Amino acid sequence: MIDKDRLLACFLELVRIDSLTFNEKKLVDHLADKLTAIGWQVKIDGAGAKIGGDTGNLIAHRPGNKAKPAIFFSCHLDTVEPGVGIEPVVVDGVVSAKGDTVLGADDKAGIAAVMEMAQVIVADPGEVGPIDIVFTVGEEKGLLGAKNLDWRMVTGRCGFVLDAAGMVGDITIVAPWQNTVNAVFFGKASHAGVSPETGVSAIQAAARAIETMPLGRRDRETTANIGIIQGGRAPNIIPDKAEIKGEARSLKISKLNRQTDRMAQAANRAAKAFGATVEVDIAREYDGFKLSLKDEVVVWAGRALESIGVKPAYAATGGGSDTNVFNSQSVSTVNLGVGYMDPHTTSESISVDQLTLAARLAVAIARVAGS
Ligand SMILES: [Zn+2]
Repeated sequence: MIDKDRLLACFLELVRIDSLTFNEKKLVDHLADKLTAIGWQVKIDGAGAKIGGDTGNLIAHRPGNKAKPAIFFSCHLDTVEPGVGIEPVVVDGVVSAKGDTVLGADDKAGIAAVMEMAQVIVADPGEVGPIDIVFTVGEEKGLLGAKNLDWRMVTGRCGFVLDAAGMVGDITIVAPWQNTVNAVFFGKASHAGVSPETGVSAIQAAARAIETMPLGRRDRETTANIGIIQGGRAPNIIPDKAEIKGEARSLKISKLNRQTDRMAQAANRAAKAFGATVEVDIAREYDGFKLSLKDEVVVWAGRALESIGVKPAYAATGGGSDTNVFNSQSVSTVNLGVGYMDPHTTSESISVDQLTLAARLAVAIARVAGS
C-alpha cells in the first residue's frame, strides 16, 4: 500500500537537496542510503568521470521471480537552474517553490514515486519480477547520463521512464529525432570609422543566414530554432567572428536531415554574399522513437493505468528525454506522465494527488509487467 504521507515527505526532502547537473552526488548518496537500508543492491556506474560530473548513474537492483521479465524504472537526478536552495511549500494540495527557483518536480516527483514503489514492493513483494531502478545524471545537459549508462549493471531489458510533463495517464510512445546546428562565421576585422571598406562583417553574414533560414514550426512533425547568437568585439570594430547555435527536431529522420541541410545552405549562401566564410557543424543530439500499441512496455503501462482507474492517453512529444537514448539502444522504453506542470520555470508545481497517482502507477507496473 502507498503511504501518502511518507511519499510527500520523501518528495519534499528530495527537492531540498540541491542537484544541478554535474552536482548530483549529494542526492545520489541520499538515495543510495535509503535504498540500501531497505535491501536494494545499489551500484554507481562510471558515467560521472566521463561527463565531468561528481557522480555516476545510480543503479539499484532487487531480484524477484525470475519467471517474470526483468524491468527497470528510470528518472533523472539533475534539475535545471535556478535550482539551488529550493524551498517547497504545500498550499491547497499543490506543491510549488517558495522562492525564485524551479521546484524540481522534474524529475524528483518521478524519483519520489519510484522510491515509494521500492518500499511498497519490499513490504509486499507478491509475484513481482526482477526490478532495477536507474537514476541518471546529466539529463538536462544532453541526456549525458543515459548515453553513458553502464548496461552491464542493469538487468532489466525494457523500461519505464517517469519523466513526462503532463498528467499521470500520458504514455509517450512517439518522440522526435534532434540535430544541433552550429555555424561560425569568419569575416575580417577593420576600423569601423577609418576603413570600413576593408572589413567583412561576420555579424551581417550571420544575420542574413538566420533571416533566410526556415525556422519555427515547419510542419506537424518538424520544428527548428536558432537560440543563441554571439559575436563582435567592440562598436568600432567590423566583427571578424560571429557564431549561431540552434537545433531542429522532427518525428521523421528524413525530414530532419532535409531541414538541417537547408539551415546549412542558408549559412553558406549568406557567408558567400558578404565575402565571409562559415564552418557549419550539424550533429545528432539524440534519436527519436516510435513504439507500437502492441509493444509489451506500452501494453503493460496501459494495463497498469487501467488497474488504478486512469485512462491511458497515448501521446507524441516534441521533447527529448532519456527515453530516446534507451530506445536507440534497442531497450524498449516508454515515458510516463508524472503530473508536474510548467517544468523549467519558477512556477513549476505538482499536486499531491498526481504525485500519489504516479507512485500508485509505479507499483501497478511492477505488479502488471509480465502478466
Ligand atoms: Zn525531466
